[in-house]
Amino acid sequence: MSKQVKNKQKTDVLSPSSSPFAVINWLKKNYQPQQIVMTTSFGMEGCAMIDMLNQQGISITIADIDTGFLFEETKALRQRIRQKYSNLNFETWYPELSPLEQDRHYGKQLWLKNPNQCCELRKVRPLRNNLPRFQVWLTGIRKSQSESRKSLTPIFWDWQNQILKICPLANWQRSDVWDYISANNVPYNPLHERGYPSVGCTHCTSRVPGLVELSSYSRAGRWAGNEKTECGLHFTPES
Ligand code: SF4
Repeated sequence: MSKQVKNKQKTDVLSPSSSPFAVINWLKKNYQPQQIVMTTSFGMEGCAMIDMLNQQGISITIADIDTGFLFEETKALRQRIRQKYSNLNFETWYPELSPLEQDRHYGKQLWLKNPNQCCELRKVRPLRNNLPRFQVWLTGIRKSQSESRKSLTPIFWDWQNQILKICPLANWQRSDVWDYISANNVPYNPLHERGYPSVGCTHCTSRVPGLVELSSYSRAGRWAGNEKTECGLHFTPES
C-alpha cells in the first residue's frame, strides 16, 4: 500500500472542526515522533504549538528555515525556545546559496526585483529538500490569517509536496493563540509588541501602523506594496 493511501485512510477519524488538542492527540496515537516535522518561523502560532507538543510529550523535529535575513529578535527567540523546550529536536534548514552568492548569481536585492524567485531560493527549496525525510508536516497556519488560507482544514493531503499536512490551529483566531500564549507563559517574538503581527525576513516585513494589540492579526506588513501575500511554502487544499 502506498504512503499516500495509508495516510489518507488515517485522516478519516478527524473532523474539520477538531480542536488543536484533539489533532495533536490523534497525531500522537497514529505516528512515531521521527515521522513528523513541524516547520515554524517562530511566529506566535508556532510558539504556541511548540508548547502544546511539549505538553503532550511528543518529541518531534521542529525546523525553521534561516533565509539569512532574519531579525535579531527572531534569532534570539529561537535560542530561548530551544533552551526552554529541550526535549524537542530542533533543526535549522538553510538555502543552498549564501546571501552573497545569491547576489552574484541573481543580482543584488533580488527580493525587490523578483520576490517570488527569492522566496523560492531561500524558503521553498530548503523545505522541499528536507520534507521527504518525513511522513507528516505540521504547521501553525490558520484559516483566518488571509484570504488565500480561508479554505484550510486541520488535516489534508498536500499534493504539491506529497505529504500529509496537519494544521492544528486552522480554526483558531489570533485572540485564541494569544490567550494560549499568555496563559501558558510561552516565549514570543517581542516584535509583536512593536506593531509586527507577522514576522518574516527583514527585507520584506514592516510594521502595521496602529496594530499593537497582541490579539490582533494582519499580514499587511508582509511584502507591503507588492501583490505577493505568500512565500510559497503553504498551499491550501483548494488553492
Ligand atoms: S521574504 Fe523577502 S527576503 Fe525573504 S526569501 Fe522571500 S523575498 Fe527573499
